[in-house]
Amino acid sequence: MADYKDLANLMFPDITETVDDLEKRYPARNLPEGAQVTRFAPSPTGFLHTGSLFTALVGFKYAKQSGGVYMFRLEDTDTKRTIAGSGDELIDQLGNFGIVADEGYWPDGDRGAYGPYQQSKRRDIYRTVIKHLVEQGKAYPDFCTAEDLEKIRAYQEANKILPGYYGEFARDRNLSVDEQIARINNGEPYVVRYKSHGDHNNKVSFVDAIRGKLDIAENDVDVVILKGDGLPTYHFAHVVDDHFMRTTLVSRGEEWIPSTPIHLDLFSALGWEPTKYAHLPVIMKLDNGNKRKLSKRKDPEAAVSYFLQEGYPTKGLLVYLMNIANSNFEEWTIANKDFELSHFQFSFEKMSLDGALFDIDKLQYFCREVLGAEHADTIVPAAKAWAKENNEKLYAKISADEAYVSRIVNIDKDKQNPRKDFANYAEIETKTRFFYDEDFAPIKAAGFPFNEKFDKEFVKSFLADCAENMIYGVDEMTWWNGVKDLAAKNGFATNNKEYKANPTAFKGNTGDAAELIRIALTGSKMAPNLHEVIEILGKDRVVARLLSAI
Ligand code: GLU
Repeated sequence: MADYKDLANLMFPDITETVDDLEKRYPARNLPEGAQVTRFAPSPTGFLHTGSLFTALVGFKYAKQSGGVYMFRLEDTDTKRTIAGSGDELIDQLGNFGIVADEGYWPDGDRGAYGPYQQSKRRDIYRTVIKHLVEQGKAYPDFCTAEDLEKIRAYQEANKILPGYYGEFARDRNLSVDEQIARINNGEPYVVRYKSHGDHNNKVSFVDAIRGKLDIAENDVDVVILKGDGLPTYHFAHVVDDHFMRTTLVSRGEEWIPSTPIHLDLFSALGWEPTKYAHLPVIMKLDNGNKRKLSKRKDPEAAVSYFLQEGYPTKGLLVYLMNIANSNFEEWTIANKDFELSHFQFSFEKMSLDGALFDIDKLQYFCREVLGAEHADTIVPAAKAWAKENNEKLYAKISADEAYVSRIVNIDKDKQNPRKDFANYAEIETKTRFFYDEDFAPIKAAGFPFNEKFDKEFVKSFLADCAENMIYGVDEMTWWNGVKDLAAKNGFATNNKEYKANPTAFKGNTGDAAELIRIALTGSKMAPNLHEVIEILGKDRVVARLLSAI
């Protein structure tokens, strides 16, 4: 009588290595106490999703702050869904964000001693482990056709029985080894299933790094572990990979919580310590008052490329995602205005459990903060590189006079509270148009919002006086005293107390006077530091604008 060993040899005649050999080939890592080994394990099925960037960031951050290892593993066993080249694109896009793996799949070849890091290249590792399970009677060939499975499903549905290939419904679970061997020799196609001994009425518990202890019904399904095409399923592959890659923490989307009992069942059948899991909340969106997942089809913000095309700085997006990740992050930023994420201590305990809500206003807020904390020397080159692909007008302006753009971007930078004008690079163009005569013309044509309490002739003569007597090339204080003198000369109060005590005795206060100048020069009440604006525009243009404002 044939036994499981004969069956295993028939199914995997070429496999001579054992699980013990693999244990030796991938020894425990020699890392300092507390160092974490994490991985980002995308399937190469398309563009970088915003949720995937979030997952990658969390894994990267957690490994890095612990002095551990962050891996990139390409999970390409679903050949029907694989899109050629998308794995390389993911690496490229993550690279833009500085999320570079210590080990993993690389377009020009793997890096690291625990590879291969591409599942389709790990075929024999999986087959070695499956051979081991078959030898022990823990896995078996299942010869069901699609029609056979459909029949089981229909029967279960008609009788209101939980669907699935388990227990008495696992048709080929108890075939004799002789029959299994005969059918394989007969050339019948098959998949390999794991023989579960779980009971759906029992609970299995595990401690999720974010959610704490979870109790879920045990797995009792004989899941497919090796498909007809010779590649493993996700369930099996991730268990084997995370065991032999010596992963200490699997951070993945919460959609995997329901199948975690399968994974725990597999770990236990193999006699391996399960990895720790952290199931990350899915990023949601508010749509007509209802929360729903970001959708690849409906929401442009589901794709990371959208933010890059719009000119959001990569650091701003990461900072925003970290804010979604940890509830104490925003408070941390108050004392850490450089937003240096490597200095922030991320923790799973501080992760919110509800689906994180995507909020474009909050993203813009953080991007403004991040760009506000930088100077032209980093902002302008990045804006130029972005504009080259995405914004002709800005690219032309920077190419024509980069120093001029830099002076504009640096306005008020060295003040206690630097300005935070720009949420993205596109706004460097739209919010600074008044610095360009050709863009100022239409602003002027639209009419200036001068305060109506001043009559036109008065404004005209005041601005003419300014045109003649404004001082240039001096520090802000000296210049401001000059403006005050001009204001006083034209009937404005330069002392607020005096003005308040007797407002009708004056035209207005110095603030009113400065506003008239500001509007004449920029077309807006909101423009940045007037002294810097004047110095950047230069005397000739300032005089021309003051004289032609009315
Ligand atoms: N390839 C799986 C996915 O893209 C990975 C899940 C995991 O990180 O284990 O969803």
